[in-house]
Amino acid sequence: MPGYEFFGDEERKEVQDVTDSGILMRYGFDKQRQGHWKAKELEEAICQKLNVQHTQLTSSGTAALTTAMAALGIGEGDEIILPCFTFVASFEAILSVGATPVFVDIDESLTLDPKAVEAAISPRTKAIMPVHMCGSMADMNALLNICRERKLFLLEDACQAIGGTYKGRYLGTIGDAGTFSFDFVKTITCGEGGAVMTNNKDIYTKCDAYTDHGHDHLGIDRGADLHEFIGYNFRISELHAAVGLAQIRKLDQFLQIQRSNKAFLKTAIAEIPGIQFRKVHDPAGDSATFLSFFLPTAEIARKVIGHLKAAGLAAFYYFDNNWHYIRNWQHLKSGSTVYPLNPGLKKQLQNLALQSFEQSDNLISRSISIPINLSWTENDLLVKKDILRNAILSEL
Ligand SMILES: *Cc1c(COP(=O)(O)O)cnc(C)c1O
Repeated sequence: MPGYEFFGDEERKEVQDVTDSGILMRYGFDKQRQGHWKAKELEEAICQKLNVQHTQLTSSGTAALTTAMAALGIGEGDEIILPCFTFVASFEAILSVGATPVFVDIDESLTLDPKAVEAAISPRTKAIMPVHMCGSMADMNALLNICRERKLFLLEDACQAIGGTYKGRYLGTIGDAGTFSFDFVKTITCGEGGAVMTNNKDIYTKCDAYTDHGHDHLGIDRGADLHEFIGYNFRISELHAAVGLAQIRKLDQFLQIQRSNKAFLKTAIAEIPGIQFRKVHDPAGDSATFLSFFLPTAEIARKVIGHLKAAGLAAFYYFDNNWHYIRNWQHLKSGSTVYPLNPGLKKQLQNLALQSFEQSDNLISRSISIPINLSWTENDLLVKKDILRNAILSEL
């Protein structure tokens, strides 16, 4: 999964360009920057590589989600439907624009269950936000159809799935807008950073201004720029963008290694009776950042996780995790914020404590996800394969 494993001379060279000129900001200083425009170049590289018309870099994946929502015109009183299995950033962004998160069940793909989505649509629903969790895609055809029929926006949280595809199109470029994260543990890292992708010029133009205090970026004098609406500062720095520029050139290599490492571990446990792999809607497009599978019961899954931990193989048991599954989001369910929240929204958050997610509980409590690393040697793979097989076989 993590691009930080392959930080090398290419990244150092790009960062060196920026430190040599001393211009750490992405806008302005045209003369002093000695021709270096790392953020711009990274945006162009993403557009080319992923075949999308517009990319706006941001300071984080969370900021990218917030920016995309703002640009789609989503705010106070609007509802966004999202899965109850995701990273906390997905709902943080929704709350940041004053909108209401509506959580629904996932299915065997570990992503949005389209039936649960349909059941949750209300007159206030503005957008559906699939999260391509653990490197693999949501059921995009089903969700696109729902969005078309009900006239809703489709906003992809592809923060964990850069390079993954669905029927030949890159995840994050299929909906009205999509987002990536380039934080330190993602497939491509900038240290910190994110991106909004869209094929809609108007949405892009709004993202461009929103992330830079509303600057319209139309003139050559920054100070004379106009501001049509209020924005924020979600800018990426040139230093961060420089790292990402070197990293995006390695994306194909990263994907190839991930896919090969994942296939090796998957094959090693595939024939064990009782193992069920996570459903992948388009197997050719799996970015292969994780190997996720279900065991017959939660009890067995907990025991297997215990064996894996004891043997030193990194593995996620999301049912007990505080950051990726709704079960342990007490701060959200109590509406705990450091500032006063809109009372209506706070009440809606508190109602979450009464909502049950039986279908997701059943799946997540039986699931284990193994993060796939880039730097594993052949010997590492053999050792990990044995640990994994033995841990499962001892309980099945
Ligand atoms: C990492 C992540 C984010 C947010 O990214 P940051 O860059 O850390 O803010 C959003 N959604 C998902 C699913 C993520 O994994």
